[in-house]
Amino acid sequence: MKYVSTRGEAPALSFDDVLLTGLARDGGLYVPESWPHFSSDEIRALRGLSYPDLAVAVMRPFVEGCLTDEELTDLATRSYAPFEHKAIAPLKQLGPDRWMMELFHGPTLAFKDYALQFVGNAFEHVLKKHGKRITIVGATSGDTGSAAIEATRDRDNIDIFILHPKGRVSEVQRRQMTTVTSANVHNVALEGTFDDCQDTVKALFADSAFRDEMGLSAVNSINWARIMAQVVYYFWAGLALGAPDRAVSFAVPTGNFGNVFAGYVARRMGLPVEKFVVGSNRNDILTRFFETGSMTMEGVVPTISPSMDIQVSSNFERLLFDATERDGQAVKNLMSGFRQSGSFTLDDEPLAEIRNLFSGLRLDDEQTSKVIADTYRQTGELVDPHSAIALAAADAQGLPAGVPVVALATAHPAKFPDAVEAASGIRPGLPERLADLLERPERFDVVENDVAAVRTHIKKTLLVS
Ligand SMILES: *Cc1c(COP(=O)(O)O)cnc(C)c1O
Repeated sequence: MKYVSTRGEAPALSFDDVLLTGLARDGGLYVPESWPHFSSDEIRALRGLSYPDLAVAVMRPFVEGCLTDEELTDLATRSYAPFEHKAIAPLKQLGPDRWMMELFHGPTLAFKDYALQFVGNAFEHVLKKHGKRITIVGATSGDTGSAAIEATRDRDNIDIFILHPKGRVSEVQRRQMTTVTSANVHNVALEGTFDDCQDTVKALFADSAFRDEMGLSAVNSINWARIMAQVVYYFWAGLALGAPDRAVSFAVPTGNFGNVFAGYVARRMGLPVEKFVVGSNRNDILTRFFETGSMTMEGVVPTISPSMDIQVSSNFERLLFDATERDGQAVKNLMSGFRQSGSFTLDDEPLAEIRNLFSGLRLDDEQTSKVIADTYRQTGELVDPHSAIALAAADAQGLPAGVPVVALATAHPAKFPDAVEAASGIRPGLPERLADLLERPERFDVVENDVAAVRTHIKKTLLVS
C-alpha cells in the first residue's frame, strides 16, 4: 500500500515512511492511495475474533509490503496485552438502541492508548529494521502526553520529550507523565502556556539542522498510523451489533477529528454505518461548519472537556480530500485560504456529501455537567465530560430510528475527578493499578519559556543519557 498527500505534491510513501514522517512535505496529511474494501462475506468472517486478531485483519491491507502477517500479529498482540478489560473495548447497553463503547481501559485511561500503544511498538519495530533512532518531541495539554510516554517508555531507539505548561495541567494528568521514570522519558515543565509549548515544538521542528541532528519525530494525531489503529474499534462495535447485516451510527466527542475520521475509514472499508454525530464543547468549529458550510477559526475557550479545547481540527483535511474527489490542488487552495483569512467555505456538492453522513452537536459546560448527573441517576454509570458529550450526541435529532447508536466513551471518569464530582456528587476513584499515583515520586525539569533554552536542554539531556 502506498500513501499520497492530501495536497497532491509530496512524494507517495510506504507505510514505514509515513509512520516516521507524520506531516507530508507539502504540508498535507498522508492517506492511503485507495481505500481497501471488505465484502459482506469478508466482514461476516470477522465475527468472533479477539480484539488483537481483529486488529490484524483490519490493519493488514494498510501495512502490506511493510509488515508481514507474523510481524503485524506480534505487534497487535503486544499492544493490547496491557489493557485491563478482557474485551479491550467493552460495549455497554444504556437503553433501547443506545450503547456506550468504553475506550478507557488502556494504561493511561483515555482512548489515545488504543492507537499509541500500537504506534509505539510499530515505531520500535520499524526503527530497528532501518537501524535508526529518533527523538520524539511533543506538547501536551493533557491526554496525549501521557499516552505517548506510556507507549514509548523503555525503548532502546527512542527518546521522548514532552512539554507541558507548568502548573496548568491537572494533577492526575501531570503525574501520569512525571511519575514515569524510565531513562528515555524526559518531561519538561515549560514556564508558559500550552500555546507556548506548542509554538516551541513547532519552532524546534522548523530548525532543520536541529531536526536532522536529533532525528526529531512526532506522534501527534495527524500521524496516519494512529488513525489506522483506531479503525479497529469501529469494526469491533459494528460486528458486536450485527454487521454486516445491521447498520449502526456513532456519536464521537471530537477535537482534532482523528477519532471520528477513523470511523469514516471503517465505513469506506465496507462497515455499514448510517451516521456520525460529532460532539463538541464550546470550541465548536466543526458544529458551526456542519450548520453553515463555513469553517471559521475562533479563539479557544477553556472547558471541563479540555482534550477537545482546540481551534482547528487538523484531520478534517483528510475528509476534505475525499469530498473533493481527491483533488489535492483544491485541498491546497482551501487550506491556504484558511491559513490566510481564518475561514473557508465549501462548495455545495462536497458539502452535501459531508452533511449526508456527519452532523454536529455542541454542549456548554453546564449542559455537559447535566448529562453526567442525569446519566448517573438513570443508569448508574459515572462518565467523564468528554464521554458525556458523546452520550448527548447519541441523542441528537435526525438520527435514523431503529439504528443502534454507539457513543464513544473516550476517558475514564477518574481522569477528570473534579468535573465529575461537581456534576454528580461522586468522586471517581482511580483504578487499582493507578491507586498510588498521587504518592509516586515525580521527575521533571522546569525550563524557561524560550526556544533556545529548550533546544539546549534537549541537547544536554541526550548527551548525558
Ligand atoms: C484527544 C481526545 C478527544 C478528541 O479526539 P480527536 O481524535 O482529537 O477528535 C476526545 N476525548 C478525549 C478524552 C481525548 O483525550
